[in-house]
Amino acid sequence: MQKIHSVSARALAEFAFEKGDLIPAARAASRMRDGVRGHQALQTLLPVSWRPEVAVSRDIPIGDRVLRVHGRADALYIDREIVRVQEIKTTTKDPATILKYDYPAHWAQGEIYAALFCLNEGVSRAEVRLTYARLDGRMREYTEEYNAWELQERLIAYAGPYLEWISRVDDWKDASKHTLDALPFPFDSYREGQREMAKAVYLAMKNHASALIEAPTGIGKTAAALFGALKALGQGHVTAIFYLTARTTGRRAAEDALDLMRDRGLAIRSLTITAKEKICPFGKAGCMGCQYAAGYYDRRREALKEAMGVQKLDAERLLRLAEKHELCPFELSLDASETADVVICDYNYAFDPKVRLKRYFEGRSRAGLLVDEAHNLADRARDMLSAELSGARLAELRRQAARFEGRDSPMVRLMGELLAAFDGREAEQESLSGLPEGIAEAVRRFAEIADELEPVEPEIVDFVYEAQWFSRVAKRFDEESYRALIAPGERYLDVRLWCFDPSKWLKKALSRVGGAALFSATLTPMEYYAETLGADGEADSQLRLESPFPRENLLALRMPLAVGMKDRERTLTAACQIIHAMAAARAGNYLACFPSYAYMTQAFRRYRMLWPYDDVICQESQMPERARQAFIERFQPAPQRSLVAFIVLGGVFAEGVDLPDDRLSGAAIVSTGIPQLSFEREQLRELLDDADGGGYDAAYTYPGLRRVLQAAGRVIRTENDRGVVLLMDMRYRQEKYRALMPPHWDVVDVKKMSELNEALRRFWSEGG
Ligand code: SF4
Repeated sequence: MQKIHSVSARALAEFAFEKGDLIPAARAASRMRDGVRGHQALQTLLPVSWRPEVAVSRDIPIGDRVLRVHGRADALYIDREIVRVQEIKTTTKDPATILKYDYPAHWAQGEIYAALFCLNEGVSRAEVRLTYARLDGRMREYTEEYNAWELQERLIAYAGPYLEWISRVDDWKDASKHTLDALPFPFDSYREGQREMAKAVYLAMKNHASALIEAPTGIGKTAAALFGALKALGQGHVTAIFYLTARTTGRRAAEDALDLMRDRGLAIRSLTITAKEKICPFGKAGCMGCQYAAGYYDRRREALKEAMGVQKLDAERLLRLAEKHELCPFELSLDASETADVVICDYNYAFDPKVRLKRYFEGRSRAGLLVDEAHNLADRARDMLSAELSGARLAELRRQAARFEGRDSPMVRLMGELLAAFDGREAEQESLSGLPEGIAEAVRRFAEIADELEPVEPEIVDFVYEAQWFSRVAKRFDEESYRALIAPGERYLDVRLWCFDPSKWLKKALSRVGGAALFSATLTPMEYYAETLGADGEADSQLRLESPFPRENLLALRMPLAVGMKDRERTLTAACQIIHAMAAARAGNYLACFPSYAYMTQAFRRYRMLWPYDDVICQESQMPERARQAFIERFQPAPQRSLVAFIVLGGVFAEGVDLPDDRLSGAAIVSTGIPQLSFEREQLRELLDDADGGGYDAAYTYPGLRRVLQAAGRVIRTENDRGVVLLMDMRYRQEKYRALMPPHWDVVDVKKMSELNEALRRFWSEGG
């Protein structure tokens, strides 16, 4: 049977005549929107015998393949004699300066439409009109006439390079497929729960549904999830796998798991997308004038061909390849992701409307998603879908622009007009259920005109992008998902269009892919997470797995201590004494986890004052990568004396770090981890209360518990680990918290220091 490949006329034309520079993504997006408006304006001027937006499609057999070419001509006139096709291109240039054959891809697109209409309608002559138009009404039109046979020849010629490319992709898929089918599980045996997890992932992809999986630490989630998804890929249920993470550490685990599978015969092409600022060899703030952006499309194809021959494209290999071809490594990674079997990347590339990968996530696709540490997704989605603008920042940028460009420059005047809408001298902090229309309109106008002024100053360029994004969010603003938060500054307002409930968006995003598995060690209560993450459809499933490790390897203790804001100073010494008792019971490395930097620092100082010769370290805010690494390296196996590391719940050392074997012996968790009060969080509590009465839990209890369980999850990572989790807060005695504890924990209450010392002594003497 012949293989059918679908391609749009535009993609085919661009593929045949690929050349040019990189355009920053936000500007490209704004041009696309302008393009739609420009098309609509021109289409209203058409004579009545012309039809706007006419769809066309035809299967073209070439060799052993069939190319299904489809598209939508901007305008069409057709009779028995002739097909006339109009192709409209909006431009920010003066159309009078564009020569007839400056853009061969534009002609090719019109010719492809004309060829398809001639073939479908049996017409022998065609005319292509190519119209360049600016939004201000200026335009230039060129026409060209053809015979139908001539158009067919051109169509075949344009299809050639595309088919050669597709053949490479197909050949790889064929070679990879039988290794996917034959792939054994990458470990000698399944750990308890791994088989169920792999099956749940496979079924989610097979049924094009979502699976929510809570799997305790140590179960081997990454390998199980990838294994299930790869089997679905081999069976053709999904066309590519996206392993999505919230942190870089998760990405490395996925790369390692794939390496293990490659060792067992798997032929798979994986690619890791690294953030632009991390992979850019120039470390610039902006890309304007970059040598790797100039002529990017002239050199891209050769690099992509080479990428097809590499099974593992991690950051290092991508950078080498990009430097060899003098290309932007970040853009190259996005382009190469289109033919990778497994893409390992941040959540953003699947869910953030600003940066998500168009091919897979702008419309429907059959990509399979693996969402690692899915407990982070709702908060991340809130940020992705919100937009904010600061009046104070705008005022500062306007001052800067006035210095460089003069007070009367168009950009400075435009900024001044926008600033007037942000005047907040009389304002109070408030949360609005409706859009602040005056501000939204001023931003919309600014974004539209500012883009045409084509600013070059990186900070102003960024501000224009932010204004464009603000306008896009304003369009999707609705009362069920959004609030406008107005915060007065000294003189100007800060305005945030805040998406407090991203579930509708996430549900839609999940429904448009081939299937998704969202997993984490902390998804309790599952009904709440299913609803919040949009994974509560009829076909969706939930799975909760038991810990594979012996229960007796964990000593979970609950110690009542008043650690609320008003009690902290009074109980600080007692908290330090409890932590010290834990560390003194047996030489080992321990975590002391606090809900805030301020509390942690206070406790660290008090501890050092009380035991000046103890080995203690303390997390700092904004630690650079090297300092973080040095911090982690202090956790050496089998230490001769105890080390206590003071860290913050929810921070970089409380989640996503792996300290297996005896590199960690215990974690004392001070407080229930509930986040600090803030205007936004209070709003969340009120808004979610309106919906189902569970506002406090959703805004405070569950996020807090998540942070606690993530930190506690550092203690037992393998079957050989033994360790202590010490929960220090009066509130852990409440029924609500008892019900939320992991089922594999046997929590023991200790009220006095003597009971604590005894429990620790017994635990360590029993297990050695
Ligand atoms: S290489 Fe760096 S500066 Fe150049 S386009 Fe890419 S990200 Fe921008």
